[in-house]
Amino acid sequence: MKKIYKQIYKEIKKYNDIFIARHIGPDPDALGSQIALKEIIKNIFPKKNVYAIGSPASKFKFIGTLDKIEDIPDNSLLIVLDTPDIKRIDGIDISNFSTIIKIDHHPKVDSYAKIECIDETASSTSQMILEMIFALNLYIDKSISEKLYIGIVSDTDRFLHDYTSVKTFDLVTRMIKKTNIDFTKVYEPLYLRPLAEIKFQGYVYQNLDVTNNGLAYIKITDDMMKEFKVDSASAGNMINNLKYVDEILIWVFFSEDKKSNLIRANIRSRGPYINELASRFGGGGHKYASGARLTSWKQVDSLIEELNNLLEEYKKEENN
Ligand code: AMP
Repeated sequence: MKKIYKQIYKEIKKYNDIFIARHIGPDPDALGSQIALKEIIKNIFPKKNVYAIGSPASKFKFIGTLDKIEDIPDNSLLIVLDTPDIKRIDGIDISNFSTIIKIDHHPKVDSYAKIECIDETASSTSQMILEMIFALNLYIDKSISEKLYIGIVSDTDRFLHDYTSVKTFDLVTRMIKKTNIDFTKVYEPLYLRPLAEIKFQGYVYQNLDVTNNGLAYIKITDDMMKEFKVDSASAGNMINNLKYVDEILIWVFFSEDKKSNLIRANIRSRGPYINELASRFGGGGHKYASGARLTSWKQVDSLIEELNNLLEEYKKEENN
């Protein structure tokens, strides 16, 4: 990876106007890596114009602020983080840029960059930025360190997921030793939730449908969310908690988003890979953690059926 990080650094050095983007519906990894990378570049090259772009997420304001952009100067560099596909890049037309760099840990979808820096084995994009820091001996301070820690902790669900590796622990340990961050402090803003969401969580778990094949799902309507005073992103905060439930191998929450006129699906598995099926429904993601935005409840039912079939096949193969 050192070679490709060197190439990235060379490009950064060349450009005076640098835009850093990431995916729509940003999570702490996307935002943490984005704002950390901006700070890294600004520390080394204070005179460069560096913008962290895309729609803000009020829930994650504590990670840092984003920049509003008016126009894109000729000869600008775009760095896209944590985003494998063009359609999910937030708030920017990639055709306006002289050079594009991608840094991502998702399986490849679109090749849209001059430098495609992809590491599917990395736990998070924040981990890759951290790896780049150490590979190139770049300056890192407390602020950068906290942001990357938030990204790594959040994407690995506190070092629980399969993508967590010795490298993850090694990089994080080096980072904490070097910057001396009070890492337990960062959990509070990250995990603090309103009581309404906890009550809603109780409802969701009570009302899960579970098939004989081990598929758990729930359809969450806009009315249900209004009743519990939560928003359409709430289900995403509780999806990972079902990882170790005996009877469940795949679980999916469908949340109606009336504003965008679509239904969000958060899909997780501890059995078969789900990302290919998710991409057939216009979504995508990782082998065991995917998402999709569906356009109708009919499509929701088709996805439920296909996930259930996938499990049936998986169980047959397991039994042979
Ligand atoms: P989520 O359930 O939203 O936490 O997403 C889990 C994973 O799936 C993340 O890696 C996302 O980047 C990916 N993902 C979520 N929604 C979509 C989508 N509509 N299209 C492609 N990938 C998605």
